[in-house]
Formats: sequence, structure tokens, C-alpha cells
Amino acid sequence: MKTITTDFDYLPATTVEEALDLLSQHKDDEYRILAGGQSLNTAMKHRLIAPEYIIDIKGLLDLDYIKFDEKEGLKIGALATHRSLEKSPIVREKYGVLCEMEENVASVETRNWGTVVGDLCNADPAADPAPPLIALDAKLKIASKGEARTVDAAEFAVDFFDTAVQPGEMATEIQIPVLPPNTGVYFTKYSQMLGDYALASVAVLITLDNKKESCTNARIGLAGVGSTPIRAKKAEEVLKGKKITEALLAEAAEVAKTEISPVSGIEGSADYKRELAGTLLKRVGKVALERAQKA
Ligand SMILES: Cc1cc2nc3c(=O)[nH]c(=O)nc-3n(C[C@H](O)[C@H](O)[C@H](O)COP(=O)(O)OP(=O)(O)OC[C@H]3O[C@@H](n4cnc5c(N)ncnc54)[C@H](O)[C@@H]3O)c2cc1C
Repeated sequence: MKTITTDFDYLPATTVEEALDLLSQHKDDEYRILAGGQSLNTAMKHRLIAPEYIIDIKGLLDLDYIKFDEKEGLKIGALATHRSLEKSPIVREKYGVLCEMEENVASVETRNWGTVVGDLCNADPAADPAPPLIALDAKLKIASKGEARTVDAAEFAVDFFDTAVQPGEMATEIQIPVLPPNTGVYFTKYSQMLGDYALASVAVLITLDNKKESCTNARIGLAGVGSTPIRAKKAEEVLKGKKITEALLAEAAEVAKTEISPVSGIEGSADYKRELAGTLLKRVGKVALERAQKA
């Protein structure tokens, strides 16, 4: 049996360049990036992981930003916390669904320390930011020394607690495009306790045509119902090009239930979670539609 040791080398970085240098020097070693520490410290405390090196990026003030531009949309740096997103006036004005999502992430204490990017990098399949980011067509910027690439939010998590970030890389930014006119977005999660991880969560984006009659675009993100967050592409197709009614949302919910793979746990069976996801999708879709009609 492998002995779990609690010893590690602590390597703090103060600039992105310094962090990428450290990552390039240790990419073949067992290291972990430390941001707010809310998930990493817990995993280490429970001896689930025992990295040899900790590369601390909490001091990268150049990645602590939330910026909005009418052409490029919203950019959230890797050190922006849940709480700063929740309290950002520009985010509330332009992407209110993200503030609504943040209000139910963990506790204020965890939101004060934990970063949004760190939550995505931890890749818990029930974490809250992924569904609204999938619905908003967000991308994650991933950097290594001398290189950068972007990955769709829907492709960022690749398995339970595993992401597209490779050794030597770090996620540096979330990028969200400007929302088209006549667009409504909504997200909700169902959890057993306030601020707990979701049993299932759903985000829906609906864009209507100029007459606000027909759906020109729909995007659906779900979490808690598979090994990663899921984009329900087939359910989106049910809505596109049609007038959205409760019956059509019910049809989309039935299709979405075939696109997810929930697993049974002490908090609920797979069948229960599948039904829950369908019910949430109908409710969330209705609110997204109302918002698109008023936008
Ligand atoms: C009690 C509790 C309740 C919670 N409830 C919820 C909840 O209801 N909903 C929810 O969504 N989340 C919940 N969380 C998770 C919480 O949101 C995350 O722990 C937090 O956001 C992670 O961010 P961090 O900055 O603390 O990351 P860390 O803990 O520092 O890191 C987390 C992981 O991501 C990696 N990482 C961090 N930043 C980067 C980066 N830039 N590039 C590459 N890898 C990186 C780390 O190496 C580590 O593997 C809960 C956490 C706790 C402790």
C-alpha cells in the first residue's frame, strides 16, 4: 500500500510568467496548483491526494479581475472569487444568471476564498458554475509557457474530477460572449441543504426572433447527472426554430433525460435524479422563455 505523506514543497508565484515557469519545470512531477484552497486543502486533509509540490497562484493579482467589453463580452480571471462574481454590478446587469447561481454556492466563507476557475478545475460533476457557463457558450483559456488555447466550457471537464488542463498548464480565464438581443437565461439547482452541492442542476438559454415568437437559439447545460457537466444538444434541437410552449419544453425534457447518465448514491437513485433533471429543465426553460420575451 502506498504511504501517504503530508510533506510537500511549497512554491509560491507572484506573476503569471513565474507560475508558468514553475509549471514547466515540474510538469513531470506530482504537483497541484493552489488557488483559494477550498477543495484542494480538503482533499489533502482527508489524505485523498498528497502532492510533492504545491504551486501557489493565490498571489497572481494580474489574474484577479472581472472585465466587460461590449464587443468581447465578459472575462473572469482565474483568481476572481465566487463572491466577487456574485457582487459584481456589471455581471448582475449583463449576466444576472451568474449572480443568481453564485448566491447558492456553498457558504459566504467558501465563496470569499474559492475561485470560480478553481471550482471548474476541481471538476466535481455537481459544481454549479458549469451549467450556466455552458448555456452562455463560455470558453476557458488554458495557458502553458509560451502557449495558450481555449476550450469550450462543455468540453472542459473530461471525467470525474478531471479536466482538459494538461501537465504544465493552468486555466487563466473564463470568456463569455455578449448575449444577443431577445435572450433569456436561467439556472436552478436542487440540493438537500442550502448551499450544498446539487443533486441536479439545469441552465437554459433561449434566444427569440425579432417578433419574439420563434426560438432562434437554445443552449442547455446540466450538472450532477453524469461524470461531467453535460450539454444537452439533442434537447436544444427540439426547441430551435419553434414557438416554445410548455408541451415543447416537456418534449425537450424527455430528450434531455436520454442524454444524461446520473449515478445512484445515498442522496438519491439514478432514476430519481433523471426525473429531477427533467422537471428542473421544464421549470428553468419556462423562466428563460419569460426572460427572453421581456429582454
Ligand atoms: C464546504 C464546501 C461546500 C461547497 N459547496 C459547493 C457548491 O454548492 N457548489 C459549488 O459549485 N461548489 C461548492 N464547493 C466547491 C468550491 O466552490 C470550490 O472548492 C472552490 O471554488 C475551488 O476554488 P479554489 O480557488 O478554492 O480552488 P483550490 O481548492 O485551490 O483548487 C481546486 C482544484 O483546482 C485546481 N486549480 C485551481 N485553480 C487552477 C487553475 N487556475 N488552473 C488549473 N488548476 C487549478 C487545483 O489544483 C485543485 O485541484 C464547496 C466547497 C466546500 C469546501
